[in-house]
Amino acid sequence: MRITAVETGRRGVRLRSSFRTALREVTDFEVVTVWVRTDDGVTGCSEVVGTARITGETNASIEEAVNKVLGPVLIGRDLSDYSVALTDAAAAMVGNTTAKCGLDVAVHRAVAAWRAITLSELLGAAPRPIATDVTLSLAAPPVMAAEAARRANEGFGALKLKVGGPVALDIERIQAVARAVPATVALRVDANQAWTAKQALEVIGAVTAAGVTLEFLEQPVPAADLTGLAAVTARIPVPVVADESAHSAADVRRLADAGACDVVNIKLAKCGGLQAALEVAAVACAGGLGVLFGSMLESGTGVAATVALASRVAAEQVHDLDAGWWAEVQSGAVYEPPLVRAEDGVAAP
Ligand SMILES: [Mg+2]
Repeated sequence: MRITAVETGRRGVRLRSSFRTALREVTDFEVVTVWVRTDDGVTGCSEVVGTARITGETNASIEEAVNKVLGPVLIGRDLSDYSVALTDAAAAMVGNTTAKCGLDVAVHRAVAAWRAITLSELLGAAPRPIATDVTLSLAAPPVMAAEAARRANEGFGALKLKVGGPVALDIERIQAVARAVPATVALRVDANQAWTAKQALEVIGAVTAAGVTLEFLEQPVPAADLTGLAAVTARIPVPVVADESAHSAADVRRLADAGACDVVNIKLAKCGGLQAALEVAAVACAGGLGVLFGSMLESGTGVAATVALASRVAAEQVHDLDAGWWAEVQSGAVYEPPLVRAEDGVAAP
């Protein structure tokens, strides 16, 4: 069975409420849909979103990369040899990991559809729901506290607080959220690169002294500041997660060698898809680092691929896969907090 066409399209996603981090505010966005078709009528599809500040890609650059560079490598290739075909396509272009992810997931879904199995089964695991946190958008402390209470009531057992300075306000935000929810709710803090190492130590010192327990601190300092990240990891009692610092397997090896974090947040769009993510996870485990799966602000169909991957790797972990929950109209991933599962139809659209 040979691949005969690779196509792209666009679709709009409106959020249930605006999503704010230290880097940006979003109320709606467009996704790029990637279809892979074969001579036997089998189709696989995926949805990805250009996140310029993280991977340097836009939806337009994704379409250009898929249609002009990566896709043509796959035309005429046999689905039974999909892994080599994807490796060849990825080698045709440096970077452009979100475009590569779109193609990788669409091809995996085509193979799953051809074999009449789910994406999880193709990856070597039974489909199962995966626990996820939910993000608390960056806002004033009382607003974040009220939202935290609502999310805990809805059934989420882990909350990821977006912070972003000034430091005194971030300390207030964390304490306000901690007061608003039962102690059984895990609190994760994501600074999205907003602090210096010194500021990170100040915030964690202050909230710890106030009796707040954090499950982890994600990306406190700028992506390139491995020295700062290592200093924070060495000095705080809270595990440190690398996100923007951890794109590729090579990045993760560097982080492990530098003792710069405890856990890596793996996202398909940062590394280039399922095949690359399995390699990144293997490097993390070999380096003694924990693995957490996350996603960009993307559609449920995008998240569903990572849900399938999480069923194979670290299925017991509470992952960071709430992106599809933010959509006003949900598709691809079904949320029953704190769980998310891949929708049945996604394996064979
Ligand atoms: Mg993050």
